Order: sequence, then structure tokens, then C-alpha cells
Amino acid sequence: MKHLFTIFGNPVSHSKSPLMHNLTFQGLEHDATYIRYKLEDGRELRNKFFDLNIKGANITVPHKEAAFEACDELDAFAQKVGAVNTIVHKEGKLFGYNTDAPGFLKAISEFKNIKTVLFLGAGGTAKSTSVILKDAGYEVSILNRSAGRLAYFEEMGFDTYTFESFKEQTNTYDLIVNMTSAGLEDNELPCPLEILEKVMPHAQASVDVIYGKETPFLKFAKQHDKPTKDGSDMLLYQGVIASEYFCEGRYSFEEIKEHMQKAFTL
Ligand code: NDP
Repeated sequence: MKHLFTIFGNPVSHSKSPLMHNLTFQGLEHDATYIRYKLEDGRELRNKFFDLNIKGANITVPHKEAAFEACDELDAFAQKVGAVNTIVHKEGKLFGYNTDAPGFLKAISEFKNIKTVLFLGAGGTAKSTSVILKDAGYEVSILNRSAGRLAYFEEMGFDTYTFESFKEQTNTYDLIVNMTSAGLEDNELPCPLEILEKVMPHAQASVDVIYGKETPFLKFAKQHDKPTKDGSDMLLYQGVIASEYFCEGRYSFEEIKEHMQKAFTL
């Protein structure tokens, strides 16, 4: 029987995931199809899974915490960070994973000799990615516009700053990451220009999690002749890892990547 996969989110019309996964299924001759489902209420997610007999799903904004709640079983990392972006349905049970964070880790590990990392932003994506980086031996500091979201990171033992408290900071960072949505639908920098002027000259590289456009942040990094990456590799790698779960290990990372990356050339 053909297996059905979907992305749940709101909005989902812009998502590249259906294209990425359908190209992969087609290329690997895996008998499955991947659709998009605009879900208004995250509490409905579990019922939709069973009503539509969905084999697996990705979950995007704003339902990653609802997806965490919907699962019967969680892998250790998803359990630790409280956010699920991939669910697989097996024998009546929902198994939850977080592939955003390993996708980001793989994307940045292509820059060599990085030890210290500064995150601009403290939202949901910063939470899971900071934890996986810390576990992998990176020293991560978090700088956010407002203080409210920093409590989680303080509890987890990260150095945290607001724009105000960062004025006194004299540390340097090997990698600067835009983890905010500044630049996604506007032309804003993720922090005051003075802060970027202070940290960027000492950095070895710079990454934006936003993909498909050159944000003001990435433009600034390029003006400083830094190697840069947008969020496309993170998106690709989280998708490859999700597909490994969807196809239950039948194909290797490289086999899936070969097909999935075609979505970025269309
Ligand atoms: P959240 O809504 O959870 O957090 C948003 C963060 O951005 C907060 O820290 C917020 O600060 C900050 N922020 C928003 N606007 C501005 C601004 N104008 N200036 C400064 N700070 C700002 O978002 P997510 O963590 O879910 O997503 C963050 C980004 O990651 C998005 O751009 C999203 O598209 C991208 N993403 C990319 C993925 C990929 O595969 N490439 C995967 C997942 C996400 P404050 O606390 O002060 O409000």
C-alpha cells in the first residue's frame, strides 16, 4: 500500500518539504506520497494522523510543541528539548524525533575549527540547536532582543545577554548565527549594527537559518569577507534525517541526499 506523508503547520503553503520528500520517494522508487496540511489547532494533530492513516509527518511552526505532546514515544533528544518536527506512525503508536537540530549541527560542522558560537535569537529553533551544539562540544552564547526568552538558556547553563548587557562583553566568537526571524519578511538586522560591527571582524564564518534569500545579516557578513551559509543546508539535512526515519533505515543518508537536494535546484 502507498504510504502517505505530510507536513503539518500554519502556514504551510510556502514549504519546500513536499517537493524535497516527493523527489526522494520518486528517485528511490519508494511507494509513498507527501502532501501539505494546514492545521489550525495543534491539539488536532494526533486525530488527523489516525483519521487519514498518515505514515509519517514533519511538523512546522507553530506546532512543534503540540507535536511533542501528541507522541507516544520520544527519542532522547526530542525529550530533552521538548520539540518534535518529525513523527513516524508504527503499529498504532506515534514516535517523535527532532531533526532540525542534527540538521543544523551537520550544516555548521562543514566549517572547520569552530569552537565558540554566538546565537542572535532565543526562540524555539535556538533552543534545540543550542543544546545539540553544547552536547557536541561547542561553547554557545545567546544574545536576544528581549530578556524574557533567556531564562531557559540560563537554566541550561549558557552565557546569555540582552543588547544592553552585551555592551560590556569583550569575548570573541568563531561563528555568528542569525537564529531570529529578522530579515525573513522585513529588511531588519537581528541586533543593533554596533553589535555586529563589534563581533563580525573576529568571526571565522557566519550562518543564517533563513533560507532562499540574502538577509541584511548575511549581506553584512559578506561585506566583511566571511564565509557564509543560509539555512538551505539545515533544511536539506533535517529533511534527509527525517526521510531516514520515514523509510525506516532502508536508504543511506547519501542516497537520500542525492535525490532530495534536487529540490534546491528547481
Ligand atoms: P521564534 O518565533 O520561536 O523566535 C523568534 C526569535 O527571533 C526570538 O528570539 C525573537 O526575539 C527574535 N526576533 C524576531 N524578530 C526580530 C527582530 N526584528 N529583531 C531582533 N530579534 C527578532 O522563531 P523560531 O525559532 O521558530 O524560528 C527562527 C528562525 O529560524 C525563523 O527565521 C525560521 O524561518 C528559521 N528556521 C529555519 C529552519 C531551516 O531549516 N533552515 C528550520 C526552523 C526555523 P524576542 O524574544 O525579542 O521576540
